Amino acid sequence: MSERFYSAEPITSDQVVLADSEAHHLLHVMRVSSGDQVTLFDGSGAEFVAEVVASRRSQVEFAILSRAEIDRELAFPLIVGVALPKGDRQKWLVEKLTELGISKLVPLITERSVAEPGPAARARLEQAVIKASKQCGRNLLMDIAVAKRWEEFVCDSPDETGSDTQCIIAHPGGDPMVDFPARLHGVRVLAVGPEGGFTEHEIELAVKKGWQVVSLGRRILRIETAAVALACAVAQPLTEC
Ligand code: SAM
Repeated sequence: MSERFYSAEPITSDQVVLADSEAHHLLHVMRVSSGDQVTLFDGSGAEFVAEVVASRRSQVEFAILSRAEIDRELAFPLIVGVALPKGDRQKWLVEKLTELGISKLVPLITERSVAEPGPAARARLEQAVIKASKQCGRNLLMDIAVAKRWEEFVCDSPDETGSDTQCIIAHPGGDPMVDFPARLHGVRVLAVGPEGGFTEHEIELAVKKGWQVVSLGRRILRIETAAVALACAVAQPLTEC
């Protein structure tokens, strides 16, 4: 896959202008000039072949040559709620979940949560989604939702997403994953707790709402490892072709 560039403006006509960091990368790293062709995407699900027609100090102007809907999504929506870790581990988590095809990341506010992203932190995580999507070829962006309280997430998820929803919490001592046969369709919603873990009260509430509590093995994983391991087990991305 050739290098891809992101347009924050929806590409709806046969011309588009990229500015800021995308233009900087094109001009000073890729050193594009008139006539060069690159791939663009705008998060709508499509990707575009575009030709450079003009460049200025911090802008590159393109003519759109072709548009194609190219689907690199999972076969079903997969939502992951996580009590986010601190610092750079958040970015790592967002990068990996984007690569794995997660549709939506919901930062969770639980009794023992330590990080709750405000608008600026969410904007930084959205930039990490774009960067990972450029690399992995996704044409739809993983949504970073506004943080939700555990009670709201656990109670709303089964209803909001429809009757065919499977809701799974990772919790040490839970049941083995193999006890839950893989489904071929329907929404999956996953939850991973904070460094201090979910409280018994939080787990009880989820069980009451029909969530399945699963173990990820005998070792205690860090938040981001647990989220990636659970997402992989449910998404089974290696079976895609
Ligand atoms: N002492 C905490 C506990 O017992 O829950 C450990 C928390 S762990 C660092 C952070 C989160 O990752 C947990 O809340 C859980 O969601 C998930 N996790 C980590 N290891 C796990 C395992 N072996 N089985 C299931 N979930 C796990």
